[in-house]
Amino acid sequence: MEKESNRKKIIVIIVVIVLVLALSILLFCLFTIPTLELKGENNVTLIYPNNYQENGYQAKTLVKDITKNVQIKGKVDSTKIGIYKITYKIKNLLFDDSKTRTVKVVDNEKPVITLKGDKEPKVCPKKEYKEEGYEATDNYDKDLSEKVVVTNNKDELVYTVQDTSGNEAKVIRKIKYEDKTKPKISLSGGSKISLYVGSTYKEPGYKVTDNCDSNLTKSVKVTGSVNTKKVGTYTLTYTVKDTAGNEAKTTRKVVVSYKPASNSLVNATSSCGTKGVIYLTFDDGPASGSTTKILNILKQEGVKATFFVTNSGPDSLIKREFNEGHTVALHTASHTYSKVYASVDAYFSDLNKVSDRVKRLTGTTSKIIRFPGGSSNTVSRHYSKGIMTTLSKEVVNRGYKYYDWNVDSDDAGKCRTSSCVYNNVVSLLSKNKCNMVLMHDVKSYTANALQDIIKYGKSHGYTFQKITSSTPMVRHGINN
Ligand code: ZN
Repeated sequence: MEKESNRKKIIVIIVVIVLVLALSILLFCLFTIPTLELKGENNVTLIYPNNYQENGYQAKTLVKDITKNVQIKGKVDSTKIGIYKITYKIKNLLFDDSKTRTVKVVDNEKPVITLKGDKEPKVCPKKEYKEEGYEATDNYDKDLSEKVVVTNNKDELVYTVQDTSGNEAKVIRKIKYEDKTKPKISLSGGSKISLYVGSTYKEPGYKVTDNCDSNLTKSVKVTGSVNTKKVGTYTLTYTVKDTAGNEAKTTRKVVVSYKPASNSLVNATSSCGTKGVIYLTFDDGPASGSTTKILNILKQEGVKATFFVTNSGPDSLIKREFNEGHTVALHTASHTYSKVYASVDAYFSDLNKVSDRVKRLTGTTSKIIRFPGGSSNTVSRHYSKGIMTTLSKEVVNRGYKYYDWNVDSDDAGKCRTSSCVYNNVVSLLSKNKCNMVLMHDVKSYTANALQDIIKYGKSHGYTFQKITSSTPMVRHGINN
């Protein structure tokens, strides 16, 4: 019995020991098994170029915080797109735990395309647009210029580019095909050409430049003509159209004037003396009506002029010319070419008649003369060969001074309106010479143009003078 009870006791003891052991192991485990927790998301998307920041973690057992023992493996390079894994591990005696965090570094920003030059360029029709250049930059890939794809879509150029992450940028250049620019005509030799009567006008040429067309020079149309046999201002008009129909027009003035005598006492540019002076000279008068009107205007404007008179018209007008301070000069009495230029004697006989008339009316002898038709006339050839060569010297020998002109109103020629007379005179006036203006006081349209001519001269800084014995001669070349 005793033995039996001892066995039972031993069993109880063993059971107790086993239970105590089991309980001890259980407690040991409960207090040493670690748990690891990640703060924040396990899967993190990090947008480039932001920096990665650890959100934290915690490790503990039932009784103790052991976060400081956590071991971390893996690193995030936030400057490089990609998928990064970070492993967190905790070990405590016999037990351990681990967690993984996945960090995805992504770039979701488009590249930027910058167009050089005009975004809406104008291009000549049927011409190709010449690329002005472009640049593409990306926050991640940096320079992507070489990866830009340019496609042509009607009148648009489409520029596209993708970065490594597939973000696409797109920019459009709109091309306007049009030409609204006129060609440009440049005239060789300038817009004003001066020639002497009897010379030849030779077109100095021209050149056309255009933004779109080349070779337009040969399409220039020249209208107008120059008559170098006749004094005057001629206008040549040059026109040209480009392919788009833009028209350019320019003009050239060709001024044909008398050549001064080669042995002239004055040179061609200063001719009758002071530059910018206007001598208004009136031939063939006096005549009732027109001469009266001219004298009235001269009086009103305070301008002195020169009258080359004949034996026609009323005496009273010659007296008035003289009394009002104008120069009364001699033209010949008859002004009939066949009579005047029949011989040297015939000329002086005719000249003396008008000289006598002037002496009788004014009490003075005039030594200022003008040849009918001017010293350059060719009409005298019909009556006496070489007479002008003789007369031009002989009058000087006899104490006369003769005055041709360098501004011809053409009022004894084709110019039969006051506006024509005005335009002729005004266009031939020059500040770079002394202006000897030929007009005829027997023409009513000349009388009607006079006031405007004087007003033009005054407003443009000219001064008016009458011919006196000290005025240098103005002489044409002799043609007979
Ligand atoms: Zn005359």
